[in-house]
Amino acid sequence: MSTDLLTDSFGREHRDLRVSLTDRCSLRCTYCMPADFADWIPTPELLTTDEMMRVIETATELGIDQVRLTGGEPLLRPDIVDVVRRITALPKAPRVSVTTNALRLAGLAGPLRDAGLERINVSLDTLDRDRFTEMTKRDRIDDVFAGLSAARTAGLTPIKINSVLMRGVNDDEAVALLRRALDEGWQLRFIEQMPLDAGNLWVRPRMVTADDIQSALSEAFDLSPVPVRGSAPAEEFFVNGTTQTVGIIASVTRPFCGACDRLRLTADGQLRSCLFSREETDLRPILRGELDHSAQASAIAAAIGGCVAGKLPGHGINDPSFIQPDRPMSAIGG
Ligand code: SAM
Ligand code: SF4
Repeated sequence: MSTDLLTDSFGREHRDLRVSLTDRCSLRCTYCMPADFADWIPTPELLTTDEMMRVIETATELGIDQVRLTGGEPLLRPDIVDVVRRITALPKAPRVSVTTNALRLAGLAGPLRDAGLERINVSLDTLDRDRFTEMTKRDRIDDVFAGLSAARTAGLTPIKINSVLMRGVNDDEAVALLRRALDEGWQLRFIEQMPLDAGNLWVRPRMVTADDIQSALSEAFDLSPVPVRGSAPAEEFFVNGTTQTVGIIASVTRPFCGACDRLRLTADGQLRSCLFSREETDLRPILRGELDHSAQASAIAAAIGGCVAGKLPGHGINDPSFIQPDRPMSAIGG
């Protein structure tokens, strides 16, 4: 199949597919979903694993070479190990990573590694138990640390940590998080809070910006920019005096849409060209129709091509006319 289907009208080649395995979650991070959130996608609308695999296989045939499994909380999917095994066994097997809150990682790190997973991204916004409980509405920080430890024992590498800082909540922890990451050998990336929460609580003046983060870190560390970035969302900085780097994903204040190579598949079969898209391509009619295998693959490929072709140049967060997408982050796949 032609790789041209993955090149959009601005010349961006798409190589990275983020697949949401579920919109359900075991935490309630305040910047993601309200404590009483209950607006789940109805189960019959969710893709079966076979349906999801058909999309992933076609995408890899077109040239997708990186698949990130996310959610919601992807480790809640009962067949997560099988999903990883099936993706890594594809004829054009992509690199696979998982973004997780790590609550179930202690028991799954070994089986995931055996199934072919090499790397893992874990979200951790604070090192403090009470603060973790306040920020996630669940007293589960010990499970996260147990998961991280199991990831190391299993040989998942690198272990990347995603941290979202919120003003007046955990923005005093930038230095402590980096110190801990340096000690543990984790690759830390701070993510600017984006207007994607189900509770619509995001307000720009309260956002902790990349500038804020850089200046907080500079109080304790000597940072210098890593020159090559490519399509990676994180701006990386050498932490001088160490062999490690720290990243900042500044989606709001320093958008990197011009180098974006990402597509997204939601758990209910919607293809999205951007986190902030207000349009989706529904793959379920193709997946649940009467087409034979080959016609179905062609139709999926055409739908992927159409989605890529319609991709806008940027996310528009900074336009006065910006409207937050109806789907929250947890139902898109971060
Ligand atoms: N549950 C998994 C986890 O937390 O890692 C995977 C899904 S979560 C939606 C993926 C990433 O999105 C996490 O690192 C989380 O911190 C981040 N995230 C969620 N809501 C966000 C928001 N409003 N702004 C920025 N990042 C957000
Ligand atoms: Fe769940 Fe991840 Fe959202 Fe936190 S950020 S509520 S762990 S989906």
